[in-house]
Order: sequence, then structure tokens, then C-alpha cells
Amino acid sequence: MNYNEIVEVYEKIEATSSRIKMTNLLVGLFTKTPKELIDKVVYLTQGKIYPDYYGIELGIAEKMAIKAMSIAYGVGTKDIERLLGKLGDLGLVAQELASRKKQMSLFYKPLTVQRVYEIFDKIAKATGEGSQDLKIRLLSGLLADAKPKEAKYIIRTVTGNMRLGIADMTILDALAIAFLKTKKYRDVVERAYNLSNDLGDVARTLAYEGLEGIKKYKIKPGKPIRMMLAQRMENVREILLKVGGKAACEWKYDGERVQIHKINDEIILYSRRAENITEQYPDVCELAKTSIKAEEAVVEGEIVAYNPETLELLPFQELMHRRRKYGIEEAMKKYPVITFLFDALYVDGEDLTQKPFIERRRKLEEIVSKNDKFTFSNMIISDNPEEIEKFFYEALENGCEGLMIKALDGVYQAGARGWLWIKLKKSYESKIIEPIDVVVVGAFFGKGRRAKTYGALLAAVYNKEKDIFETICKVGSGFTDKDLEKLPEIFDKYRIKKRHARVVSELEADVWFTPSVVIEIIGDELTLSPVHTCAYGVIREGVGIAVRFPRFTGRWRFDKAPEDATTTKEIIEMYKAQLKRIEESSS
Ligand code: AMP
Repeated sequence: MNYNEIVEVYEKIEATSSRIKMTNLLVGLFTKTPKELIDKVVYLTQGKIYPDYYGIELGIAEKMAIKAMSIAYGVGTKDIERLLGKLGDLGLVAQELASRKKQMSLFYKPLTVQRVYEIFDKIAKATGEGSQDLKIRLLSGLLADAKPKEAKYIIRTVTGNMRLGIADMTILDALAIAFLKTKKYRDVVERAYNLSNDLGDVARTLAYEGLEGIKKYKIKPGKPIRMMLAQRMENVREILLKVGGKAACEWKYDGERVQIHKINDEIILYSRRAENITEQYPDVCELAKTSIKAEEAVVEGEIVAYNPETLELLPFQELMHRRRKYGIEEAMKKYPVITFLFDALYVDGEDLTQKPFIERRRKLEEIVSKNDKFTFSNMIISDNPEEIEKFFYEALENGCEGLMIKALDGVYQAGARGWLWIKLKKSYESKIIEPIDVVVVGAFFGKGRRAKTYGALLAAVYNKEKDIFETICKVGSGFTDKDLEKLPEIFDKYRIKKRHARVVSELEADVWFTPSVVIEIIGDELTLSPVHTCAYGVIREGVGIAVRFPRFTGRWRFDKAPEDATTTKEIIEMYKAQLKRIEESSS
């Protein structure tokens, strides 16, 4: 298959903003892709060469790409930089330079998908001494053979700027239609993705084994399972009604969610975003290896920092000290952790995700021999609201955020935020909203003491139904001087020229970001606002919902993906609950 064939489809996808058209274009592409290439075509379409959890990135710096282009096109780097200033996108610069080149070499052979992929792979895997030169040589060789449009996408891919804006869910739609000819089995396809985080593997299974194969798709230890999430409610009685009267109530620890994969003696740890975090927790790995008795297992829990002198559990931020590449041994001693396990998804060949929660918990306790630092979450089974409330306050006193209340017969809903798990967090006085997680989508320049940094960030929540981010406030308070100093460093890599296509904003920010960083904020109340787009027109025509007097709580939620932020729907519910509280207190 020629690379040009997929490039033609990318061009059309780029020109449309309609999800239906995008899906149809992808169906066309996947249908004509030979089976043995389907996984590669899916990854390339996502702008990568492997699923994210592999942690293998192309990541060619702009400077390096410019060098390769300079060699391929015989143009000076200064000239390329000048052109970049004019066109604003290195992909377009490559396209322009390639089209200026008089003619292809006499022995021109069209670029195949296979060749492009293999070279990308070599570029990604080149490490150590001389690897920079090798990467440049590989890239310039590829560019020399590429037609203008191909060059554009090659450069965009290697620099990590594909930006076709195709959501994973759109690819799943297209795969279902392409290989099963109907969207009827879309759920089955999505389940396979939820169990593997690997769209390429799902596509390969569909291409080779069709419906039967995808129906039988099983957990594969080593591939991260998309995590089950919880809904939020404020009243214990209502929660109990929702989960079937009697429930498992667990402390909700304030740490980092972890999915532990044991494959014989190998341990892999995945974060909530399915990033490989094995290197950050050698202590957890060692304990998992010695305490999990099964040969193969996938279990989940929360890693929590604690104070070894007082044995108190510490807040999530303490774990930030473990987010480092070097000096992990030292950090491990200085910031020790405890792992509280709460679920088992797979044990020795058996997929447990469709089993009732209580059975999974039993299995978990069966295969793990616990100790002080590798243990189970504190849990009671109860149908008594008073008892549960007491347990809730006990959790708060012990440094937890509240409770997780789980339906005893609930299956593990991979990748879903359903009603089988419900979180009960601290609720605040009637007018104070509880902390929410917002995505930073833009920023405003600072003045005076903040001249070198940003004065305020533009924050948004996630509208899941529309798959977009809607602004909810500008937040400038609550940042320490140290936080402020770090802002440009944290956000610069996400800076983009225009408002991101998935961000809806009435406000014009000074700079825009790709929605990536999630922070926790708190405010005084939710108010109606004509300038913010969160739930626009839902409560009243012409206004959205905003946070009044927002403050950063100091919590960077690097563990959350933008889609894990508080949702518009949750904000609407919080607004309604607030109204009810105000009405009750004034009547
Ligand atoms: P939230 O981040 O507020 O949506 O809450 C969900 C998170 O709570 C999960 O992703 C876990 O990291 C965390 N958590 C803490 N304790 C538990 C528990 N006992 N069961 C499930 N999740 C827990």
C-alpha cells in the first residue's frame, strides 16, 4: 500500500469538521488496507506508531526536523526557519520545499506505508551515542523520496503534531463499520478497546478474526485495561437506593490509582491514564512480586504516600516527588508509600471483569498475602446509612477523601463512569462548591509581579456528550510564587496558535493551549454567567455556568487526562443541588 493513499484521506479529513464524514473517510481507508498493515495504518492515523502505553514516542524536536529538511531539500536552516515564521507549521514548510524541488530522482519509487512505518520505528528506537545523527539521516532520506503532501504528514507525525482531531471513539465507529458492516456490534468492539487500550490490536483482531474473534477478545496481561470510574452523589440514602440497598463501602484514598500487571516475575504498573509508571515505584513492584501469589494477575488499587514517623496518610501531592526519572531510590526512601488494593480483574487465565464485585474482592484477598505496605482497602458491607456515615467521617479523619460505595453485584465496567461505583466526598457549607477538576485551555498575560508569567488561566470542564471543553472560569488565585514561576514551563509545550478545535470559548485568551493539564480548583459558588460556555443555555437562555471566586487548591492533577476532568453534566447537577440547598436554608 502506498503512503500516498493514506495521505489523500488525511487531506480530506483535515478539510472536514463533520464526525460523520470523518468516519466515512476512515471506513474507506480501513476497507482498502491490507490485513497485515491495518494496525500500522490505525496507529499512523492517530499520529503515532504504537499505542501510548508503550511509551515509545517519535518526538523529534523542531530543530532536528529542520536539519533533516535542510539536507533533504538543500536549503539553509535559516531559510527554513524564516519560512516557518511565515507559514507557522513545519509540515506546511516541508510541503512547500518539496514542491519547489524540480523533480524526483530518476529511480523514484513511491513510498509505501510499510517503509514509512519502518523508518518511523527506527527513528523512535534510536538511542544513545550518534542517535541524533542517525535520526536526522533517516528522516532526510525519507523526505527525499516523499511527494509534497507526504512530506507534510511525515513532518507532522515525527514532530508529534498530526492534529487530525480524530477521537478514539470515531476510529472505533469506523472499524466496526469497515469490518462488521454494521454499527450493531459497536459495543463489542469498544469493549475490546476498553480491555486493551490498543486500537491497533482491536483492528487486527477484526481484520483477521471478524465478529467471532472480537466477541472472544480477552484481557491480555501487559496491556492496560481502561479503568472503571465512579459517579458522584451527596446523600448516603440516595446512594444506597442506586446501588441496590446493601453495598461495599470503602475508604476513598487520596493517592494515585494503579493497575498492577503480574506476568510471572515481571511487574508492570499503569496509571489511570494507562501510562507505564513502573519505574516510579520499585518498592511497589517488589511487594507485588512477593505478595501476589498467582502466576498471572491484573489487580487494582491506590498508591498513597504516608509519613513513616506518624503513619498518617498524606495527600496526593506528596506522590509528585515520585514523578521523576533520576534519583528514584532516594525519593523512595524519603517518600514511602502504601498500596491499598481494591479489585482483581484477571487471575491466571480467567477474566473476572464480568463477575460481581464481591466475588472479585474475594478472589483478590485469596491471591494476595497482605502486609503493612501492600494491603487491602478498608471496607465494610452495610445497608445502614448511619453506620456508613460514621465510616465516612472515620475515613476523613484518616486522611481520606470520603468513601467509594460499590454495588455488590456490579461488574467491572472498563472505561466507564457508571452508577455501580459512587463516590461520596466531603460536602461543604451550603454556598461553597466542592473542589472540581478543570482543564487549562488558555491563559492571560500577567502584569507587575506576574509580568514574566501568566496572570490567570482559562479553565474548562468536559462536555462528554459533545466531546468538547467548555470554559467555566478564569483562575488567578491560589498560586504560590513557585507555582507562578513554573507556569510557562508547564504550559509552553501545549501552546498553539489558535483556540483548540475542541474548546468552546467566548473569551479571547492571550495564548491558547491544547487541552492537556488538569488542575483542581475550589470556589465560593456556582453562578450564571454570560461569558462562560459551560452548560450554555441549559439553565437559562443566553448564559452558562461559572465558578465564582475560583482558587487553585495547589493540586496539579497530572494523573488525569483532560477527559477525566469534571463534566458539564456534573456541574449542572452541582448547580441544581446548590439551588436546592439555598432554597432549603431560606425556607
Ligand atoms: P475521582 O478521581 O474523584 O473521580 O475518584 C476516583 C478515584 O478514586 C479512582 O480513580 C481512584 O484513584 C480513587 N480511589 C481511592 N480509593 C478508592 C477505592 N477504595 N476504590 C476505587 N477507587 C478509589
